[in-house]
Amino acid sequence: MIDSHCHLENQDYDKDREGLIENCRKEMDAIITCCANPKNLDLSLQLVEKYRGFVFLTAGLHPIHIEEFSEEEKENYFAKLEENKEKMVGIGECGLDYHWIKNEKLREKQKQFFLDHIKLAKRLKLPLVIHSRKAEKECLEILKEQNAKNVLLHFFSNQKLREEVATTNYYVSLNTAILRSKGVRQILKTLGTGRIMTETDAPWMGFGERNTPLAVKKVIEKTAQLEKKTSEEIDRTTTNNAIKFFNL
Ligand SMILES: [Zn+2]
Repeated sequence: MIDSHCHLENQDYDKDREGLIENCRKEMDAIITCCANPKNLDLSLQLVEKYRGFVFLTAGLHPIHIEEFSEEEKENYFAKLEENKEKMVGIGECGLDYHWIKNEKLREKQKQFFLDHIKLAKRLKLPLVIHSRKAEKECLEILKEQNAKNVLLHFFSNQKLREEVATTNYYVSLNTAILRSKGVRQILKTLGTGRIMTETDAPWMGFGERNTPLAVKKVIEKTAQLEKKTSEEIDRTTTNNAIKFFNL
C-alpha cells in the first residue's frame, strides 16, 4: 500500500506527525510526501532522513503559491532541490490552477514556473507530478509540447480528457474522490489499472473524517469494487506501479 501523494509537512500534522507516520509504517509500504512550498523543504528533508526507505519526497512549487515567490526565490529553491536530488524521487507538484488563480498575469507566471519545473525534472532525470485544476487541457498541451516523459497526473478528474490521457503513457493517481466522483470513476474505467496509483492528498480532501495516508485503504477498496477485483490485487498493482514509476 503506497500513498503516492500527500503532504506530511502540513501543519495539521504538527501535533502528532511522528506517531502518525509510525502508525502508517505498520500497514503501508511507503508514503510519498509532496513538498509544495519552499518554506517546508527543511522539514521534508528531515522526514526523508528519519524514515529512510519509507517516506519519499517529491518537491515543487504548487501553482497556488507562486504569487508569494519571486523568480529569484524560485531559483534559490531549485538550487536547493538540485543539491538534495539524491533525497528526492520526483519534481512537483507543479502545473496550473485556474480555479484559484484568475488573474491573467499570475496565470502567465504559473505557466512560466511550470515550464521551469519541467526543465528541472529533465535536468535531474526525475519524474513529474502534475497538479491541474480547471486547466487540465492546457497542462496536457504543455507536457506534450515539452515532450515530458515520466508524468503522474495527480488527482486528475477531467473525464472529458480521459481518452486523450489514455493515448499518452502518463500515470494517474486516484484519491478518496473516487468514493463520490463520477469523473474519477470514468477515468479509471478508461485507463484500467495499468497506470493507476493510489494517493490521499492528505490532509486536504477530507471525506467526513481526518485525512491521513491510511485512507489509501478506502481508495483501494473502492477501486477493487469498481474493477471487480480483490483489494489484494489492486493493492499489488498500484504498489508496483508506484515503485516502478518513482524508482523506489
Ligand atoms: Zn497535493
